[in-house]
Amino acid sequence: MAWFKRDKRSIENPTPVDERRVRTEGLWEKCPSCRATIWKKDLEENANICPKCEYHFRVDARQRLELLLDDQTWTEHDADLSSNDPLHFADTKPYAKRLKDAQSKSGMSDAIITAEGRLGGRPVICCAMEFGFIGGSMGSVVGEKVARAIELAIEKKSPLVIVSCSGGARMMEGTVSLMQLAKVSAALARLDEAKVPFVSILTDPTTGGVTASYAMLGDLNIAEPGALIGFAGPRVIEQTIRQKLPEGFQRAEFLLEHGFLDAVVPRKEMKAYLSQAFGFFLD
Ligand SMILES: [Zn+2]
Repeated sequence: MAWFKRDKRSIENPTPVDERRVRTEGLWEKCPSCRATIWKKDLEENANICPKCEYHFRVDARQRLELLLDDQTWTEHDADLSSNDPLHFADTKPYAKRLKDAQSKSGMSDAIITAEGRLGGRPVICCAMEFGFIGGSMGSVVGEKVARAIELAIEKKSPLVIVSCSGGARMMEGTVSLMQLAKVSAALARLDEAKVPFVSILTDPTTGGVTASYAMLGDLNIAEPGALIGFAGPRVIEQTIRQKLPEGFQRAEFLLEHGFLDAVVPRKEMKAYLSQAFGFFLD
């Protein structure tokens, strides 16, 4: 026998299920650093930086250009350059299918936007990588677009900015991806001869083949606070050298302390920093 008994069988005229729920999904974001719950709009208005602890959330390529370029306007170059899957590669799914999915999701043809615009009134060539496109990996298209952006910078004598956000070379294009490291590095040597400045901005994460080529070849190499920067991942290194890695290893601040970077610059100060740096280089 039950201790409590319900008087009525059910509540009359209950509110329909879908009206009872308040839509909150996608309105809030949890900060992975301080665990604060932040209203998404507040986060967006704060350049995707946690208002409580300054944690820098990842921003996509378009937002990045909006943050850096005057009037949030630019001319995009080589927007429709896309990979032709040179190896006809397939892993868990065919690379061609993976490309198509990434393209329809991002509205981009590959993992980088190369743009021509102004920064602090000065004409610049600015490239921004898109992590959402197959992990911001560098295949033939990213390499070619970066090389063309460098050539444009030489031609126009405009300083170059590349914002990296990448897991490294694109495995699905194998050696064709690796070729890009040499191609881009050679183009940067020509940029150097032409005495056109290049500032590399390393954001979270910048690893693998991108770190091993243009990301570390800037006249200035600067990073956002807390960014993961490295070549191989920490687990691979630990297993290879059989040693425990120090605290904060491969974070921007650690790299600055050990002489791998020139500065760690908060996102909101980045534009002013670049403007000042180019003034120093060119005026
Ligand atoms: Zn936070």
